[in-house]
Amino acid sequence: MATLELNGVTKIYDDAQGRETAVDSLDLSAAGGEFVVLVGPSGCGKSTTLRMLAGLETVTSGTIEIDGREVQDLAPSERSIAMVFQSYALYTKMTARENMAYGLKHSTDLDERERGRRVEEIAELLDIVDLLDDVPAEMSGGQKQRVALGRAIVRDPSVFLLDEPLSNLDAKLRARMRTELKRIQTDLGVTTVYVTHDQTEAMTMADRIAVMDDGELQQVDPPETAYDHPTNEFVATFLGSPAMNTFDATVEAADDELALRRDGTTFATIPAHAVSLDDVEAVRVGLRPEDLRLDDAPGEGGFEAAVTVSEYQGNDNFVHLSADDLTLTARVPPSVYPSPGETVGVSVDPADVYLFDPTSGAALKTRGLDARSFERRPVSTPE
Ligand code: ADP
Ligand code: MG
Repeated sequence: MATLELNGVTKIYDDAQGRETAVDSLDLSAAGGEFVVLVGPSGCGKSTTLRMLAGLETVTSGTIEIDGREVQDLAPSERSIAMVFQSYALYTKMTARENMAYGLKHSTDLDERERGRRVEEIAELLDIVDLLDDVPAEMSGGQKQRVALGRAIVRDPSVFLLDEPLSNLDAKLRARMRTELKRIQTDLGVTTVYVTHDQTEAMTMADRIAVMDDGELQQVDPPETAYDHPTNEFVATFLGSPAMNTFDATVEAADDELALRRDGTTFATIPAHAVSLDDVEAVRVGLRPEDLRLDDAPGEGGFEAAVTVSEYQGNDNFVHLSADDLTLTARVPPSVYPSPGETVGVSVDPADVYLFDPTSGAALKTRGLDARSFERRPVSTPE
């Protein structure tokens, strides 16, 4: 199981359209056998990072190490990596068997019988034995994706790179392949970097997720840590569906409490010890939809809101609310289904209130009530 390490990896494109830093001083590592998911919005530099790992793109500066060996100047074939693309990139005239065996012929010194055996073994793992003699035109999207995976796995790479491999599949198949890919990766124990813009894929598959924005790494953590303790507002709002509600508020201290207020309404009150906000008067408040509780009338610490739309989801409901000039979304159990126009009380547990610096976006308070329970990591802040 190979380790992977990127140190200060930077890619600057300098072409007719101008100069652009696609990836900026990226530090990232993966332990042997780890599944790291690189996630972020379109254009944030995920594919560029993966292509530099694969050797399909040069690095402008920085180093890439696989098992302690610097590989950034090596040809793709010398790096012991295999990459799967969204487009599958199968040879259209070759059968699945030939597609899978093709790379083996060039990348290993296995003889023909051994190659055949290896292909069969991986075909078994991927449940594509029946397809081995078909050409891509005879296969469905999901089947082509499996063959493309098989072609990469069969080479027994040290590092496995996948760039949005499930994007072309329909939603149901995507969910199934997600589970299956995770199982296969765990079985094989191969160090994997997986790129996606889909936060659900990232959250469900990753040992650790690496969140990127605009060429810069924002946070690398296990999914639950990134979700509960995001380093900044970008990460907080990127992870979770529906997205976290965020808005500006002022902080008013009274006794041992801090009231988070806006236009005369107190949206939440938190114990002063939960956060160190010396001299901070303005904050961004973050409330996750699933943390909003709805009652017939506002209770202690709650506020009033009008229901604009209730969306029935089957397993839960999304209730859209308006409070003063704010619109908020609550995710509530299916039994809670208020009608449009109804007035409800909304409350949130102080532990579940997130606070961010309105200028830098850096997290000031995440989930929990102990300010010290969460040590803030370095955050890249916009200039
Ligand atoms: P992602 O995969 O996260 O969507 P990319 O890595 O493809 O993002 O792109 C990152 C940035 O680099 C984008 O702004 C994109 O326009 C730019 N970019 C990608 N490839 C090239 C290229 N060959 N020449 C110039 N700019 C590029
Ligand atoms: Mg991409």
